Amino acid sequence: MPTSRRDFLHTAGALAAAGFLPRSLPAMPSVPSPVSPDFRGRPCVVASANGLRGVKVAYDRIVAGEDPLDGIIAGVNIQELDPEDQSVGLGGLPNAEGVVTLDASCMHGPTRRAGAVACIEDIATPSLVAKAVMDYTDHVLLVGPQARRFAIEMGFTPQNLLTEKSRQDWLRWRARLNPNDMYLDYDGTVKIKFHTGTINMNAVTANGDIASVTTTSGMAWKVPGRVGDSPIIGAGQYCDNTVGAAGSTGRGEANIKACGAFLAVEFMRQGLGPEEALLRVMQRVIAMTEDRLLGPNGRPRFDLQFYALTKDGRFAGATAYEGASFAVCDEQGPRLVKCAYLFKESERPR
Ligand code: ASP
Repeated sequence: MPTSRRDFLHTAGALAAAGFLPRSLPAMPSVPSPVSPDFRGRPCVVASANGLRGVKVAYDRIVAGEDPLDGIIAGVNIQELDPEDQSVGLGGLPNAEGVVTLDASCMHGPTRRAGAVACIEDIATPSLVAKAVMDYTDHVLLVGPQARRFAIEMGFTPQNLLTEKSRQDWLRWRARLNPNDMYLDYDGTVKIKFHTGTINMNAVTANGDIASVTTTSGMAWKVPGRVGDSPIIGAGQYCDNTVGAAGSTGRGEANIKACGAFLAVEFMRQGLGPEEALLRVMQRVIAMTEDRLLGPNGRPRFDLQFYALTKDGRFAGATAYEGASFAVCDEQGPRLVKCAYLFKESERPR
């Protein structure tokens, strides 16, 4: 029987009262995959490199029969609740005014549903709020103060997310603030050095059910109100239960214009392997990049990584420059794997 909103509020409220945060939401009724019900593949979880601990948690859960989205959300919750990870959740680097605002989105392949929150404050696990939007509303994306209010109504506990370390980093940034830090010069030149970081995680189960999630505190020192690619379905993450999943970390502004996660899944649908699909997405991103963010050699001045897996358990990570890694867990256990790349580090514009 489907979980009612009243049941949810009761359960989540009890969880919130009992501890720190609602660590899990009541399970939705499982819906069989609409495609290939007899499919037998290999379970696999891929994530950004900061998901090394999380991919193991997610993999163990999906192998034990848990829903793939619940599994990967448990995986990303580790980083969201880790104050040392300054790219996501508790301890995330704040915006220009010293306020931590978070973005997250998720997709559930078997039921073809999606949920997201953007620019939400005070809730450490926006991935779970995104899933609550998916599970308990008729909408896909809630933003700002209303997303926070929704989360509290659903039983999440608000808390201060700005750790002392992140506050000190913000103070140091602010002390060095100059007119080039947030807004573009009138002549279009840009000398912005932003910190980025995020966690994206994607999973496929043995019977080919797929899910994806991305959660972030976004670009550090961003203009208040800025939303990146992470909560944008088709940019920060995307999954299609008939094909695979993809997601990204890095400069969201560059990815949004290419709809990178959607494009990766579409390339895989056309028959490309995950690595070639992601490299083609990187090429599209560069083709869509404005001149001010390209060096004289046409190479990008920013970092952006993509991760993907297919319904039959193949996976890849890719980026513009050599050297990045991503996390994977399959029957060989959790490990970091090198991303495919387009350019040598020496080709990066200085
Ligand atoms: N993609 C995130 C954003 O643009 C940030 C990041 O991954 O570093 O908000």
